[in-house]
Amino acid sequence: MDLHAALHQHFGFAGFRPGQQAAVEAAVAGRDVLVVMPTGAGKSLCYQLPALVRDDLTIVVSPLVSLMQDQVEALERRAPGRAALVNAQQDFATNNEVLARARAGALKLLYVAPERFSSPGFLEAIREVPIGLFVVDEAHCVSQWGHDFRPDYFRLADAARWLGAKALVASTATATPQVARDVVDRLGLRDAVRVTTGFDRPNLSFAVVPCATTADKQARLAAALAEPEARPAIVYAGTRKAAERTAGDLARKLGIEVLAYHAGLARGERAEAQRRFMAGDVDVVVATNAFGMGVDKADVRTVAHEVVPPSVEAYYQEAGRAGRDGVPARALLFAEPRDKGLHVFFIERSEVPEGMLELVAERLLFAGSDGRFDVAVADLGDEPEQVRAVIGHLARAGVVQPAPSPIDRVRGRITGAFDGAARSIARTSAAEGQKARWRQYRAVWAFVEGTGCRRAAILQHFGDPAAPAPAVACCDVCAPELVPAPPERSPAAGGGASHGSLEEAILAVVRGARPSIGRTRVADVLRGGKAKVVLRNSWDGLPEYGTYAHLAARTVLAKVDAMLESGRLQSTGGPYPVLREGAGQQPLAAA
Ligand code: ADP
Ligand code: MG
Repeated sequence: MDLHAALHQHFGFAGFRPGQQAAVEAAVAGRDVLVVMPTGAGKSLCYQLPALVRDDLTIVVSPLVSLMQDQVEALERRAPGRAALVNAQQDFATNNEVLARARAGALKLLYVAPERFSSPGFLEAIREVPIGLFVVDEAHCVSQWGHDFRPDYFRLADAARWLGAKALVASTATATPQVARDVVDRLGLRDAVRVTTGFDRPNLSFAVVPCATTADKQARLAAALAEPEARPAIVYAGTRKAAERTAGDLARKLGIEVLAYHAGLARGERAEAQRRFMAGDVDVVVATNAFGMGVDKADVRTVAHEVVPPSVEAYYQEAGRAGRDGVPARALLFAEPRDKGLHVFFIERSEVPEGMLELVAERLLFAGSDGRFDVAVADLGDEPEQVRAVIGHLARAGVVQPAPSPIDRVRGRITGAFDGAARSIARTSAAEGQKARWRQYRAVWAFVEGTGCRRAAILQHFGDPAAPAPAVACCDVCAPELVPAPPERSPAAGGGASHGSLEEAILAVVRGARPSIGRTRVADVLRGGKAKVVLRNSWDGLPEYGTYAHLAARTVLAKVDAMLESGRLQSTGGPYPVLREGAGQQPLAAA
């Protein structure tokens, strides 16, 4: 089979990206596959193309309905009528109609929300359909070591086997070696073909920005996003309230529209915010981690974290949303000492209190004396997150099997007794979860407080043996000028304008450089370049040196050329032309 032709026909892509072809070939051949690639590398294609080429049905399980909807919509354009979705948000008739199409052999890809697999009716409805690939996307969710463990993922291996799937495809962006092993074990992958591409993102610069206070942080964040070249930008905040606050603060400081995005907004508002950001209508979104998995905007120039995220995995997945187009982009992590205390607080709060496993088990067994239960979350404990975690531990111990339920209720079946063995499995499960959280805490703070190259630390964390190979300024350790200064200390911010502009910085370099400086060297100086001629002439001593390290040389040069065009700058010409401030200056007030 000509896979290149199929790639072109269905996706219109000119060629495979690294790793994709190997994964596609293995899946077409019916082998189990483990795909580990960083966000944006193109994991979906690794199972979508095999699904379209094979003549049986591929089932895709993914943790987020919005993610699945995006994929189904995209496939609808590429292979109309071949992909569909079943989930709890969709009405009964629609789900039934989709299943009928699957049974009729019309579908190639069926996207399924994980909790569907606890519904015997659903499993029966597709049992007669020949199933080829069973895809577990975001497969790290199956691992308790991972940062995003989901009890619903437990059942997937059993369901795949029960349905007679020919092969399993697991894909994730966040597998440390330990998580990768866990994914293989829990999904029962047999002799899996492992496809891994490197974790390095050569076009991203990484900077950790230690901030003494919240005000300091907000000032630096605004300074970092002041240049239009630093946008579009996503700012990740720790809480909904923080997202709203920072969005307001940035809008005021930058004088542009800034949207907040979090799970507390109505569905319509969220969709609208996402649509406007994707369309380039709004340049800055301040979001909680609810914003993300489905966001595939290629030209994000900055991802900033205004708090330290709970794990390196979560951090890198979010940071990885910058620069998917391959053009230089920045990931900035603003860290305040108080973030550490907050992490400790949340980990301690997630500890299962003494007696809670027993209490919840007892109540569920009582409520489910006829085999099924349906109880209010509030009747089981004060912290909904904690209640859900406890139910996950009980599920793991084989006591209950949760079913899809509204947010404030827990529904499911009783599947076993809460005897000594079950209690001990549930306790171990709880203890492991807690250990995993502390391990993540240590890893992320070792990263933040580390003194070595950030890129090297990330690669090491993900078990990638490659040497860092940045195509841009690497990180704040290797290139300290990447750290955005607060505006009052930023030389470019001097003068009348409230924010330093690239144009003013270029003029300042041209004015300040002794000897006079030429076109390409201006870009070198602003980007913190280490060319000999820069060092020999001590241009690295100029206050503007390195203040635009996040920009590509061609971005700076394009601005210089525009200024030459407009007469704000002039070139002396001759064999060694240098720049001068031009007579055709525009008044600063025009900005
Ligand atoms: P991941 O799941 O690994 O984060 P996606 O599967 O969402 O990444 O793919 C990211 C983007 O890359 C998508 O816009 C996709 O269309 C694009 N893409 C994937 N493979 C190719 C390819 N071979 N050529 C061009 N674009 C591709
Ligand atoms: Mg993906």
